[in-house]
Amino acid sequence: MPTIVQKFGGTSVADPERIMRCAARVVEARKAGNRVVVVVSAMGHTTDELITLASKVSGAPSPREMDMLMSTGEQVSVALMAMALHSLGCDAVSMTGAQAGIDTDNAYRKARIARIDNARLERVLGAGAVPVVCGFQGLSPDGDITTLGRGGSDTTAVALAAALDVASDGGTCEIFTDVDGVYTADPRLVPTASKLRHISYEEMLELASVGAAVMHPRAVLFGEKFGVPIHVRHSQKPDVGTLIVPEEQIMEDIVVVGCALKPDLGRISLKGLPRTAGIQAQILEPIAAANVSVDDIVQTEFGDTTTIAFTVEHGDIADVKGTCQGLIERLGRGEIDVEIGLSKISAVGTGMKSHTGVASRMFRALAEAGIPIHNITTSEIKISCIVDRQHGERGLQLVHDAFGLAAGDGVTADMQSTGRGRR
Ligand code: ADP
Ligand code: ASP
Ligand code: MG
Repeated sequence: MPTIVQKFGGTSVADPERIMRCAARVVEARKAGNRVVVVVSAMGHTTDELITLASKVSGAPSPREMDMLMSTGEQVSVALMAMALHSLGCDAVSMTGAQAGIDTDNAYRKARIARIDNARLERVLGAGAVPVVCGFQGLSPDGDITTLGRGGSDTTAVALAAALDVASDGGTCEIFTDVDGVYTADPRLVPTASKLRHISYEEMLELASVGAAVMHPRAVLFGEKFGVPIHVRHSQKPDVGTLIVPEEQIMEDIVVVGCALKPDLGRISLKGLPRTAGIQAQILEPIAAANVSVDDIVQTEFGDTTTIAFTVEHGDIADVKGTCQGLIERLGRGEIDVEIGLSKISAVGTGMKSHTGVASRMFRALAEAGIPIHNITTSEIKISCIVDRQHGERGLQLVHDAFGLAAGDGVTADMQSTGRGRR
């Protein structure tokens, strides 16, 4: 009997009516002959509201207490979802992350799943009931509640699907959300975006990492590592959504599969540092230890000094600045400059490995609109440009359309890389 993990996001369980509709989907999947495990997020904007609540009592709330607080949102949802299932005549057992056997590391607010003991899940499934598991949370080695980073319920779902080895019997992990699949860009920002039928794990991971919030990046990593087929679909519509699959299973030859925006970045520049071996590690190790991801690193040298600049998410600026300040004091030299109000536009596609002309097409689209680029970074399958925040959304739309990704453009790899697209 196939096992399906069904994850319902915040908007999908925002009120009792929607919870009932999601519960009906669970019952339907069971009737179709599947074993079903459910993962739910907190209702609507609950997590944001809990964060605001914390800020009313503390300027710098302890990360441990933040996880204790934020994890409560999912607990409300699992209890209500289990009750909704009961009311439809379906046996269900709600579980916290810890009860579902999800162990993490000690990193409050950004914990990583270390292992999953699926014994209890299997017992509940074996008894013919539906386990309804809190997304976004686990248990640290110290026995504390941890959370997996914003959007982390996707990761809970795919990790459970991996732990239950759903792929071995034809199962999947279904990510039910408020859009009907993965689009070529966030359809809320780019109205011309088109829905993708398939996307590779590699492309989805890169898109998620550069701002496509529809999937949590670590969920995609788990999916790829353990071969979990992921189906992103609308929770209130029956349509087939987007399948995230290995690249070999995708037939279309498209260079750029999608574009994404990180709207709120800051750039930290450390100037006048000594030009000594190991200075980069001295700066970046403590930042990495704090689980902050740093991007777009640029180093310039002048005389006997070095400047190292990098971007971080807006919310991480204060912490990173504090860490860097400590280093500068220890070195007895250097200064920190912080720029805010930056955005990053990225174009992603595995076809970039074998096609040329992609970067220049992106630069041309921004140039024609008079949008200055402050920095460029590339990987094998991604090109990113840092621009002023005021140009972020428009730049995203222009770059997206320049690659012929707009719905109905029917783009091919040839058009994208040689400039013979419809534009
Ligand atoms: P959930 O609460 O269900 O986890 P999220 O808000 O985390 O939902 O993710 C869904 C949202 O992701 C969509 O409403 C959409 O605005 C946004 N999004 C960003 N990039 C994309 C994309 N490329 N395709 C589809 N949705 C995207
Ligand atoms: N409720 C959490 C959040 O808002 C986790 C999730 O939705 O995936 O980030
Ligand atoms: Mg989400």
